[in-house]
Amino acid sequence: MDFNLTTEQQQIRDEIKKVCREFPDAYWRAIDSKKEYPEAFVRKLSELGWLAALIPEEYGGTGLGITEASIILEEINHSGGVATACHAQMYTMGTLLRHGNEEQKKRYLPKIATGELRLQAFGVTEPDAGSESTRIQTSATRQGDKYLINGQKIFISRVLQSDLMLLLARTTPYDELKDKTRGLSVFIVDLREAKKTLDVKPLDLMINHHTNALFFDNVEVPVENLIGEEGAGFRYIIDGWNAERILVAAEAIGDGRWFVERAAKYATERIVFGKAIGSNQGVQFPIAKAYANIEAADLVRFQASTKFDRKEKCGAEANLAKYLASEAAWEAANACLTTHGGYGFAAEYDVERKFRETRLLTIAPVSNNLVLAYLGQHVLGMPKSY
Ligand SMILES: Cc1cc2nc3c(=O)[nH]c(=O)nc-3n(C[C@H](O)[C@H](O)[C@H](O)COP(=O)(O)OP(=O)(O)OC[C@H]3O[C@@H](n4cnc5c(N)ncnc54)[C@H](O)[C@@H]3O)c2cc1C
Repeated sequence: MDFNLTTEQQQIRDEIKKVCREFPDAYWRAIDSKKEYPEAFVRKLSELGWLAALIPEEYGGTGLGITEASIILEEINHSGGVATACHAQMYTMGTLLRHGNEEQKKRYLPKIATGELRLQAFGVTEPDAGSESTRIQTSATRQGDKYLINGQKIFISRVLQSDLMLLLARTTPYDELKDKTRGLSVFIVDLREAKKTLDVKPLDLMINHHTNALFFDNVEVPVENLIGEEGAGFRYIIDGWNAERILVAAEAIGDGRWFVERAAKYATERIVFGKAIGSNQGVQFPIAKAYANIEAADLVRFQASTKFDRKEKCGAEANLAKYLASEAAWEAANACLTTHGGYGFAAEYDVERKFRETRLLTIAPVSNNLVLAYLGQHVLGMPKSY
């Protein structure tokens, strides 16, 4: 496989770098300390069409592949920014594209492409169902031409900043199912309407992701907002997992590069005991090691995205990329923090902010234990471990 970027892919990288320069460290630091949403950044990316990368041209998007989308997210994180603020649109787009009907696509995609509608919320996790998504209890009960949603979700990000949310809800009780992966359905919830009855409680977390607990009490969703077939929703979500893992991997690669570059620069400039700290192997080697692991993970990421764009099977590569990249980014984060000594804890150096951010990628949207379980079972053929 040839992983050299095409001219167009290199141009995308350069363009994103250019846009990101308008949003320097100080911008992200202020957003983080005030717990704000990077509204100006997301609006700018939408106006330039970058968030519509995965929307086909016939619906007003740019019709790019997962490789290009991953480059966009990577460069945002590489610049010191936080792609999570706007990545959900790319993560979730596939569900609507693959399983939505023509009317739904025409209704939503062109407006999402222009930024008129924002789809940055994805509601799956519940207090008693995180990694085990098939255990969710939030119910959708059909009543005439609408579904009534009841239940609770937790850790659902950007609900207050989005117009639309993709929601996984139960349409058949768990105990009535032979196949436990059935009985769940995906809906597009128009939050502009739903927010009138949906109770959204922001959570105070270690990172600024606008994450909430949601309480549904007879929230109405019209039947025309059901995506695909009732009861087949979990399958639709699984269909999106490879794309999601590749995109997370790219975000982690971006973070990893940021940490390595900052660490190498600081290690070269900081003088202690009369010499640059980076001239000590104890400082230099952890940075070089993290760099090596990021470069290796990046190759697997491009292998996964190339296969994905060729519509080849890529479950193994996508999971490997997610695992290797998020672990390498976390290694780089630690090397960077250690290199900065006490200054690593000072907000003005941005290391502590990125350190907190990158830690999430080993846990969410899927924990690395579950990624290892995939590799153990589906790639190495061992028994199911959960
Ligand atoms: C900042 C943030 C934003 C989020 N945004 C969203 C969002 O927008 N939408 C959404 O739906 N969710 C969101 N989440 C939720 C996230 O996807 C879950 O936290 C994640 O999937 C893990 O679920 P859990 O927290 O319930 O952990 P659990 O499932 O309770 O797992 C706890 C730990 O046990 C491990 N574990 C569990 N079972 C096994 C096993 N069989 N073998 C080995 N290890 C195991 C897990 O790997 C994990 O480390 C967000 C979370 C955070 C922190």
